Amino acid sequence: MLYESSNNQGIYSPREPRKNYYYRCVEENFEVLERVWDDRYQNTYGYWRTHILDVIYDYLDCGNLHLGFARVKCEDCNKEYLLPFSCKRRAFCPSCHQRRVVEFGEFLYTEVLKEVSHRQWVFSIPKRLRCYFMYDRKLLAKLSRCAWKVLCDYLKSSSGDKDSVPGVVIAVQTFGDFLNFNPHLHVIATDGCFKGDGDFIKSVLPQGKDIEKVFQSEVLKMLKKEGKINQFIIDNMLSWENTGFNVYCGEAIYAEEQESIEKLAQYVVRAPISQERMFYIPPEESSNEVGKIIYKGKNSREIQAFDALDWLARLVTHIPNKGEQFVRYYGYYSNKSRGQRKKAETDDKVPVIVSSDLSKKAFRKNWARLIQKVYNVDPLKCKYCNGKMRIISFVEDEETIEKILKDLKLWGIQNHDPPNHFKIPQQFEHFILANSLLIGNNEKSNENMGKNKDGNYEEHNSNNVFPDYETCDEMPKYEDWF
Ligand SMILES: [Zn+2]
Ligand SMILES: [Zn+2]
Repeated sequence: MLYESSNNQGIYSPREPRKNYYYRCVEENFEVLERVWDDRYQNTYGYWRTHILDVIYDYLDCGNLHLGFARVKCEDCNKEYLLPFSCKRRAFCPSCHQRRVVEFGEFLYTEVLKEVSHRQWVFSIPKRLRCYFMYDRKLLAKLSRCAWKVLCDYLKSSSGDKDSVPGVVIAVQTFGDFLNFNPHLHVIATDGCFKGDGDFIKSVLPQGKDIEKVFQSEVLKMLKKEGKINQFIIDNMLSWENTGFNVYCGEAIYAEEQESIEKLAQYVVRAPISQERMFYIPPEESSNEVGKIIYKGKNSREIQAFDALDWLARLVTHIPNKGEQFVRYYGYYSNKSRGQRKKAETDDKVPVIVSSDLSKKAFRKNWARLIQKVYNVDPLKCKYCNGKMRIISFVEDEETIEKILKDLKLWGIQNHDPPNHFKIPQQFEHFILANSLLIGNNEKSNENMGKNKDGNYEEHNSNNVFPDYETCDEMPKYEDWF
């Protein structure tokens, strides 16, 4: 039996957790975060949710071979390698989240959206109302409902047929550029409505401004009904010139623009953080001995420095509760409508790629292709002979895990090797030195700090994240994913 570790043989570029800024920041700070939460953060972010710790522990174990793996074997040359299990935690584990993001894009394109044009809409709410949604996450579903109601009426009226219905997918995003709590809705909506027979009536140039006031009124009404605000607050808000409600409507994306649609779908469910835009200064390197996160905005060139604890506190507010949905389907795209069309076999009236069962099977088999799309590797193609690789077993038994990892000289070393160098990514160098965020700050330049001889310390390279594994018998439940 010939084992190979993915670590040594590089079929994947495995995640090397301790070399990853994000992992280090989480590992070094999460216990303190829990300890100081009530004193330092409860006032701003509400009660500590015990669920947060489950997510963090799972993330810290994600991709750790010591906790079990699948054995993958080449059918032609018999070479084997090990594929560790992943945590599948939404929002918090960047690699697991990213995998779902790509899958969601394909799912939406092949299974939900019809071959008609779509538009992106974004619904946002004023700052002073945002905290209610943080303290009471059930309101996020109601916010989504408000947007659907308003948009549905609007698109219906533009079709001139009151029995027609639009297809709408709404994704809740709770984060702003720097992880501030900013609940808003990303919507992918048909650019018009479907009639009962499945024909599609295109909208007349829709505009966000048209429905801003109606959306505002729906949300205020909902929050009042929920007992969060009273008429006094509403009157006060309405007296401002700019109430802070905003509805944006994007350009039409045509049916044949598959890539744009998938990109948009991926965008609306993206993770709160980007590892490419962050850098962690551990306490021992920091000028005031407090761990720091340097983070670059997505849409701006702005860079901000945070105490690592503060940053982590912000981040955990975006962890969804157990079973909490991010994405909802309405109108022609609602689960009910889709189910009925499939049952009546009318779902291909506007052509979809494949019909229900078959496509899900095909889709499941495609996980290897999806991984390839995310990580630029094909996990089921032998790198020695290009043969077809197959998962032959799962190893979850502690003794067997230990035996195999010892044979491979991987036992006890994978996740706990301290990093042996500290090097600032070029994009943050100026900011960090200018703000004296390091010990000995300006005297210490990046060159003499980096102890890395080979100079290829690329922890923020997305190829360094580890693809996860899903058994081929496992039926993905797409609706539960986000
Ligand atoms: Zn082979
Ligand atoms: Zn994970």
